[in-house]
Amino acid sequence: MPLLRKALSDFGIHLLTSRTLSWVMQPLRSQVVPVFMLHRMEDASRAVPGHSVDSLERALQYLKDHDYNVVSVRELVVALQNHQPLPKRAVAFTMDDGFYDQASMALPLFEHYQAPVTVFLATDMLDHQKWSWDYQVEYLLNKANAGSLELKIGSEVLPLMLGSRAEKRLSIRQARAALKSLNLEQVADSMGDLALKVGVDVPEFAPPSYQPMTWGQAARLESNVVEFGPHSRQHLILSQLPEDEAEAEIRQSWATLCEHLKHPVPVFCYPNGRFGKDFTQRDQKLVQRAGLQAAFSADPGYVNLGASVEPGLFAMKRFAFPERFVDFKQYCSWLENGKEKFFPGRR
Ligand SMILES: [Zn+2]
Repeated sequence: MPLLRKALSDFGIHLLTSRTLSWVMQPLRSQVVPVFMLHRMEDASRAVPGHSVDSLERALQYLKDHDYNVVSVRELVVALQNHQPLPKRAVAFTMDDGFYDQASMALPLFEHYQAPVTVFLATDMLDHQKWSWDYQVEYLLNKANAGSLELKIGSEVLPLMLGSRAEKRLSIRQARAALKSLNLEQVADSMGDLALKVGVDVPEFAPPSYQPMTWGQAARLESNVVEFGPHSRQHLILSQLPEDEAEAEIRQSWATLCEHLKHPVPVFCYPNGRFGKDFTQRDQKLVQRAGLQAAFSADPGYVNLGASVEPGLFAMKRFAFPERFVDFKQYCSWLENGKEKFFPGRR
């Protein structure tokens, strides 16, 4: 029965997002812009899981065929600042972190479709081949052979199930969520303990499956379609840092981008990005003080063109690029916003 219900619901979404109905319902969508957030691209040769090139291509082709307008982050921010309208049925794309697979697989596709995208770079990855603790956790738990283990979280332990791929995926999410509440010293302590339990050393520099793009690659890819923005230096949780360190993370990543690229986008993207958890009002002010013009969170939702500029501009929401195409269609269409309007809180 759940399968049948799902099929019916997918068919319903298909009908409700049809071209005719989309035009009729356009007023429900005119004030909001879905901004999609992508991470890794699937690369079997380096055992990297992620979005498939086919699913991204299907999405970009769909937008082209259905009269959507892919706008750049730069255009979106100018429209918000000046209360200007954007082209109808506007959609925007962002990618986080700056991995090699993003540069080699996704960015040429955006360029081919002339669909603007902004890539937020954690600059220490490109500068020093550094990789952050949240990816190291994933690396270690994927290497674990035991069916379960206990992760040290400060003075407590978090039991993690690792028997299947699905369990590992869930455990990675749980481990990251728990570690986010710790300070840097405690995270290092937990990671050391985890490495011992798994029996694998964490390489100092990113291994092949976490290879970052190079500055040369970014400079070659930079265009009026592909742009880059700052995503901190070390990809740390800003809310866990003292103010001066959080400020340095923001300012130095922007300065490094300005050194290497011709026209970086002055829009920040918070690492991990949940408001109230990974960044706070303090960090929003730090971004503003650094002269940056706006910032993205990773909280799900539309960017609302009708909202007042403060504080929305420094915590713009995004949707994770969905695995299911039917969900992508729903976010792009009037339907998701219509649901939020009529049935608030039922995400
Ligand atoms: Zn990130």
